[in-house]
Amino acid sequence: MNKKSRTEPYISTYLHSKGRKLGLPIAGNFELTARCNFNCPMCYVHMTEEQVRAAGKELTAEQWISIAREARDRGMIFVLLTGGEPLVRRDFFEIYRGMKEMGLLISINSNGSMIRGEILEKFLADPPFRFNISLYGGCNETYENMCGQPAYTRVKENIRALRKAGVEVSLNLSITPYNYQDLAQIYADAVELDVNVRASSYMYPSIRVNGEQYGCGNRLSPEDAAKYGVAWDQLRFTGEEFAVRAQNMKNLIGDEEPECPVESEEGVRCRAGSSAFWMTWDGQMRPCGMMPGPTAYPLEVGFEAAWETIKAETAKIRLPNQCTSCAKRDVCPVCAAVCVTETGAFDQVPTYVCRQTEQTICATWEAYQNRRGADSKQAEQTICTTWKAYQDGRGVEQRMEEESSEHAAEKEGN
Ligand code: SF4
Ligand code: SF4
Repeated sequence: MNKKSRTEPYISTYLHSKGRKLGLPIAGNFELTARCNFNCPMCYVHMTEEQVRAAGKELTAEQWISIAREARDRGMIFVLLTGGEPLVRRDFFEIYRGMKEMGLLISINSNGSMIRGEILEKFLADPPFRFNISLYGGCNETYENMCGQPAYTRVKENIRALRKAGVEVSLNLSITPYNYQDLAQIYADAVELDVNVRASSYMYPSIRVNGEQYGCGNRLSPEDAAKYGVAWDQLRFTGEEFAVRAQNMKNLIGDEEPECPVESEEGVRCRAGSSAFWMTWDGQMRPCGMMPGPTAYPLEVGFEAAWETIKAETAKIRLPNQCTSCAKRDVCPVCAAVCVTETGAFDQVPTYVCRQTEQTICATWEAYQNRRGADSKQAEQTICTTWKAYQDGRGVEQRMEEESSEHAAEKEGN
């Protein structure tokens, strides 16, 4: 578990590649709300109840269902319900059931804290395709520090209840200045719960929350992001697997299923704006939730026209030449959203990511060498100990021999 594993079913990969060729929106990400019962400092979309009420733009259940129906009629098969925390919506199950009745395959992003009692019962009676639950720490103190609530025990219990009932759960882990010290415990939890973890120490700048503060975020330095990313790799890989990973890194060969699958070498590499779209909580369509634009308004122009705008605008996006021709590209998490949130432009090099990538390669290789060093030191140690034991044994034998000849001599003397 937690090794390089294929998390996406082949049928989904196939449908996306067909969708891309035919210009169909196979997957929709619906950000049902910006509200959340947690308050994480690195979140890219988070508003209080009061802020949302003042903005007055959160879409109604009817509006979400109507957009989903139009999208389904245009080809959508997969839906991700996300937030904020989607379960804070009182009408969540109205939306969920409405979309289920359309035959859509629904995944849910959640912090996991509310999946108990009546809510849990409802999900057990009619489970989603998958839950993606964020695990923020390995103890209540870390949760309190990072999310504002000591919810670790509760979240773990909730995940356990879902797993016990056979519901598909995958964990998301954001490695931040608030939880890097808990990595070993988080890994142990994932093993105990028997769930796959998708971890990232790269945090996008939260420009949707903080305005145009490109490249800023409540996150680790690129060097520490690399260090703790590699620390996580050391937990999840065996010595042999880590050695292969180190060799691949050194040769600049990517060996991980990327967070957003790569579909093309030109322009936007992922599915955003070619077979997938994102709806923000206030009704804006974008290629991806991390990007501040391009934007279209399906509630005003209809789904079809909005989707055509998003596809056309996404096709114009170009990444920096330095990135498209970079030898490290396959081991670097660079993408259109990374460039624009780091620099304010799609075609500018995100230096934070360059530093993190460089350091990840170095730190992986260094950790591999240290492991090899530790292994050979251990081997040397074993040889020394064996030799010492042998010598000690010989000493004893010699002493015994000496003692017995002394004894014999004494006897003879008598
Ligand atoms: S961000 Fe830096 S390391 Fe990554 S592909 Fe671009 S130039 Fe290369
Ligand atoms: S633009 Fe980046 S973050 Fe957005 S979907 Fe594509 S790879 Fe993922």
